[in-house]
Amino acid sequence: MPERTNMFINAQAQDLEIAGVYKDLDANLLNLIKTNKIDPKPLMICSGSTSSSCAAKGHWTLDLRHRFKKIKFIPSQNDVLIEAGVNMATLVDQLEKHKRSFPIGISGTTGIGYILTGGISPLSRKYGLAIDQVKEVRGIWATGEKFILERPVSSSDEDRIIQWKALCGAAPFLAIITHLKLKTNPLKSLRVWETSLEPDQLAETILISEGLPPEASIYWMWGKTIKAFVVLELQGNHRDSQFEEIVNQLPRSKDFKTSLINNLTQLNQFKLPIPSNSANQKQHSEVLGLLGPPLKEHSFQLIKSIEKLMQKKPNESSYISSQQLGGATVVGKNHLSSFIHRDSMWKPWITGSWEAGNEEQRKESLDWMEQGWLELEKFFPGVHLAQIHPHLNWHQKEVNAAFKSWLPELQQLKSKYDPEGILLPL
Ligand SMILES: Cc1cc2nc3c(=O)[nH]c(=O)nc-3n(C[C@H](O)[C@H](O)[C@H](O)COP(=O)(O)OP(=O)(O)OC[C@H]3O[C@@H](n4cnc5c(N)ncnc54)[C@H](O)[C@@H]3O)c2cc1C
Repeated sequence: MPERTNMFINAQAQDLEIAGVYKDLDANLLNLIKTNKIDPKPLMICSGSTSSSCAAKGHWTLDLRHRFKKIKFIPSQNDVLIEAGVNMATLVDQLEKHKRSFPIGISGTTGIGYILTGGISPLSRKYGLAIDQVKEVRGIWATGEKFILERPVSSSDEDRIIQWKALCGAAPFLAIITHLKLKTNPLKSLRVWETSLEPDQLAETILISEGLPPEASIYWMWGKTIKAFVVLELQGNHRDSQFEEIVNQLPRSKDFKTSLINNLTQLNQFKLPIPSNSANQKQHSEVLGLLGPPLKEHSFQLIKSIEKLMQKKPNESSYISSQQLGGATVVGKNHLSSFIHRDSMWKPWITGSWEAGNEEQRKESLDWMEQGWLELEKFFPGVHLAQIHPHLNWHQKEVNAAFKSWLPELQQLKSKYDPEGILLPL
């Protein structure tokens, strides 16, 4: 039976008056899906509950965290089979027991929505996107039909290849994923470097970072001040010298620090130049992720644009950040995913926040985000649909920018596997 209470991590989702929560994909819910009796549509799907689209006002949510919690490591293949309610910190902690790892993002709180929407990790330049580690997907199409799909090979039939490509990056529009089998990597320690920077120093850092080896990546956050982090996976005895060599090239301020961590969940401990929700009045927010190619010398122009945007930022909790791609995320046209922007080097994201319930501030922040998008799309023409916004007026624009020429084919698949619009609109 569905329940009325919700426990979403995303503050905005948590405060919504929803119809209720389904805690299992049981025969009853399956029947409602098959007979097109979900009312109202879409049915919202929640794995980690960290995004605003795991719930919607007046809608039902299927919260997979209650019944889909198993993790099974398969030592013979070094693969791991996870259910859809497992969060990334739990996954990495479990894998650590087997001296293995998985390229999670900069926070372990996210669920498998992180993997399904692409999954950009500080280790992606070495191992690829999270979506590239998937070996098998299980779930139900939005028609209610069950499926188990293994990663296709070049001789696989065309339908299977297309289904796989669609699920890896666009699953939230087509299917409810219940299980993923993932490749794992050997666990290695990580060196982290952090420093505050001035805008000009950030431009220089971006320029230099584009030439870093794939074991290293940078991410930065521009809030009250600018903070940059370099993460490097240590490979052998001599890697500390490689770390020194890399960070010695980069601009720094007096507060720079280095640390050694065991796995990516420990990145949580680093201090960011943005106020945390608990210290202030409760904040709601939206996040828009963009994607674009190497900036080269345009990094200085970008920084000028961001400086102007930051002067107009609505409050202290709104900010602009970026993660780095490149290396193993750059794959040829024949890659099997809906993450099409494979020439990307940067994923900047704009976070617009407001005091919970303050409509005026909400409008101001969303307007600032849209202005920011217009300004930044000159450098970053793609969208990373890590956060999906069916409730905002820019949803069609974000979908177009995420999938570009692949969108018509995805929409055809949508009419086949979700003809009644049970899941998010595409
Ligand atoms: C603190 C923080 C740090 C982050 N860092 C990174 C990062 O480093 N790299 C990166 O790439 N992204 C990052 N993200 C973005 C995050 O990966 C995405 O927002 C992701 O969609 C969250 O997944 P979730 O399962 O936690 O969220 P949810 O809110 O539960 O789900 C997100 C969306 O995915 C869909 N979905 C979820 N589960 C399923 C399923 N089983 N089947 C079908 N559809 C499903 C839902 O419909 C929903 O729209 C970060 C987000 C946060 C909050």
